Amino acid sequence: MTQNFSHNNPLFQQLIEAIRTAICTNAKTVALHEPHLCGKEWEYIKDCLDSGWISSVGKYVDLFEENLAQYTGMKRAVSTVNGTAALQVCCRLVGVESGDEVLLPSLTFVATANAVHYSGGIPHFVDCDENTLGVSPSVLRTYLRENTELRSGNCFNKKTGRRIRALIAVHVFGHPVDLDALMQICSDFKIEFIEDATESLGSQYKGRHAGTYGKVSVLSFNGNKIISTGGGGAILTNDTTLADQAKHLTTTAKQKHPWRYFHDQIGYNFRLPNINAALGCAQLEQIDFFVSKKRALAERYKMAFSKVAGVKFFKEPPFAKSNYWLNAFLFDTPDQIRNDAFLEYAHHCGLMLRPAWTLMHRLPMYKTCPRADLSVSENIEARLINLPSSSQLGRFC
Ligand SMILES: *Cc1c(COP(=O)(O)O)cnc(C)c1O
Repeated sequence: MTQNFSHNNPLFQQLIEAIRTAICTNAKTVALHEPHLCGKEWEYIKDCLDSGWISSVGKYVDLFEENLAQYTGMKRAVSTVNGTAALQVCCRLVGVESGDEVLLPSLTFVATANAVHYSGGIPHFVDCDENTLGVSPSVLRTYLRENTELRSGNCFNKKTGRRIRALIAVHVFGHPVDLDALMQICSDFKIEFIEDATESLGSQYKGRHAGTYGKVSVLSFNGNKIISTGGGGAILTNDTTLADQAKHLTTTAKQKHPWRYFHDQIGYNFRLPNINAALGCAQLEQIDFFVSKKRALAERYKMAFSKVAGVKFFKEPPFAKSNYWLNAFLFDTPDQIRNDAFLEYAHHCGLMLRPAWTLMHRLPMYKTCPRADLSVSENIEARLINLPSSSQLGRFC
C-alpha cells in the first residue's frame, strides 16, 4: 500500500531525482556513510603487523595524539577506544558525581546520554535551535534562569534539588553550535562545558576548530565518522593536568613503574590500540581532502534541492565552516508517517537514507529524566532526513 502510494508521489520522485543528481553515481545501493581509505592505511598497518606493535602502546598512538592536537590547535589529545568512552571519562574529569545532572540535547546519538549515565550522572534534556540543530543558547538561558539557583558557587535544579554539573553541547552532523553564547551561559551559571565534537572533526567556529572551546571535548573515529580508526575516540583539552589525568584514567590508573602493578583509583581500559592509531595517522593525513569533498557534495545537494518545493537543505550556520559530515534536508511540515513512507521508497530505490535519531526523552530508559520544553527538537525530528554523505560521492560529475 505505502509503496504504491510512494511511487505515485511526485514530491518523493523529485527528491530521489535530486539526490541522484547530487551524488552522481551508478551504484545500485548507496550507503549513508562509508570510510574512504585512499592514503597510507596499508603501509602503516603493515608496519604494526611486521613490528608486532599492535596493542595498547606504540609509536602510532603517540603520533596520532600529537597530530590530532596539532590539527585542532589544542595542547593535548588523548586517544581512547571509542568516543562514548571518551565522553564518559570527560564527565568524570569535569567532576560529575553520582546523582549530578548533566544538560545535553535530546537531539543526539544515544552515546551522549549513555556516557552521562555511565559516569553516574542523570541526563537532563534541553532543546535545540533550528538554525544549528545544536543546543539553543537563548532558550537555555531563560530555562536556567527560571529553573535553577546558585548555592555556594554551584548550580542546582530547583525542582529536583540536584546539582547541575555540566553541559554537553553536540555539533550535530558536524555543524558547530553557537559556542561563544553557550560558553557565556556556562560561565554565568557555574556549569562545566563539554563539547561532543564526535561528528565535527574538520569543522570551524569563527575560524577556530570546533571542539577547542570546552574544558574537555570529544572526537570519534567510528566507522561512519569523517575519519575512521575502525573504532576509536579522543579527548581534547588545553589543560595539561586534565590531559595527564585522562591518560591515567584510561590506562587503568596504573602508576608508572618498571614492574610494579599499583593502581591509585578505579580506572578504565579505554586505550586506543596502536593498530587502530596507525589507521588514524593515515586517515588524518587526508582530512583536508575529505572536508573539501564533503563541502563540494553539500554544494551539489544545495543546488539540487533548491529546485524542489516543500523541502529545505540544511546549511551551515553563518559563523561556521562545517565539515558537512552528514547532509540533511527538512520537509517544510512535520509528519512522521510521510517520513516513513519516503524512507521506505528511498530504500526501495537503493538510497540508504535515515531519519533523525529518535529523541533521547522518548527512549524507554531516559523517558523519566528531567527535561526542558523540547518542541523545536520534536518538530525537527518529524521533518529531518539524513542523506548519503560519503566523501567518495559526487566526484564523477
Ligand atoms: C559517534 C557519536 C558518539 C560516540 O562515538 P563512538 O566512537 O561511536 O563511541 C557520541 N556522540 C555522537 C553525537 C556521535 O555521533
